[in-house]
Amino acid sequence: MGSGPTVAAAQTHGVEALLLNCIDYRLIQHVNRYMSLRGMTGKYDQVVLAGASLAAVYPGLPDWNQTFWDQLQVSSDLHNIARVIVLDHRDCGAFKTYLGRDYGQEPDAETQVHAVYLDTLRQQINARHPELEVELMLMSLDGSVASFT
Ligand SMILES: [Zn+2]
Repeated sequence: MGSGPTVAAAQTHGVEALLLNCIDYRLIQHVNRYMSLRGMTGKYDQVVLAGASLAAVYPGLPDWNQTFWDQLQVSSDLHNIARVIVLDHRDCGAFKTYLGRDYGQEPDAETQVHAVYLDTLRQQINARHPELEVELMLMSLDGSVASFT
């Protein structure tokens, strides 16, 4: 993060990124704080959908999938974003509800399932918007963030 070309793009276009995160009220302040610590307050668009990466790619939620892609297109068209930041979180009720497993009780399996959905979304973004960089993150309930490369 924080590479030269990205900074230059932000200065040129005003908005640097689109953030996709979950609706969960427990994480809202943590997400705001995380983005602030990255110096990005006021510099990103935001899509909030339950499950974040899951909302974008889970086949059983076609309306949610389409909403994400529509919003990404609008963000790209209006603000020339350089990248998408996908921020999943642990103990996510959407993952539990739609995948039928309480991953919050199984941290290793939880990391794996988020890795699968995050990577699937990155591949789909790369296919539709090859100009965009993609960052994949998993936030814990204490607000700490792990990055997937
Ligand atoms: Zn969630």
